[in-house]
Amino acid sequence: MPLVIGEDAREKLAHQLQELDVRELVDVLRRVLPAYTETANGLRNVLVLAQATVWDTDTPDGTQDTSTDLSTVVWPDAGYYGDHLGPDQGLWEEGSCRSCDLAVVSNAKRAHCPVCGTACYLT
Ligand SMILES: [Zn+2]
Repeated sequence: MPLVIGEDAREKLAHQLQELDVRELVDVLRRVLPAYTETANGLRNVLVLAQATVWDTDTPDGTQDTSTDLSTVVWPDAGYYGDHLGPDQGLWEEGSCRSCDLAVVSNAKRAHCPVCGTACYLT
């Protein structure tokens, strides 16, 4: 049975997470989100972290392009980076998972898909 904490405790936890840089936040969520995977009726639901990119730009015809891309945040390959979190550069590395074909982003060029575990090579 999950521990139920009050609003004050959740707020304190949220403030602690906001103190982290994005690499640290991703590393904490890498440890937490898989615990919320649920399998039922032949479906596996995996809770993941995603980044939305909004193309909030003016087009030549005067309208606005507000299309949005959603990419799954992949877990940096801790083995490759010597148990470090990878480069501190934001989530600028992009690619796709060669197994489940999700669009993915990371701060690291080498990472693992949070859905299927496949090694991802980002550029
Ligand atoms: Zn995958």
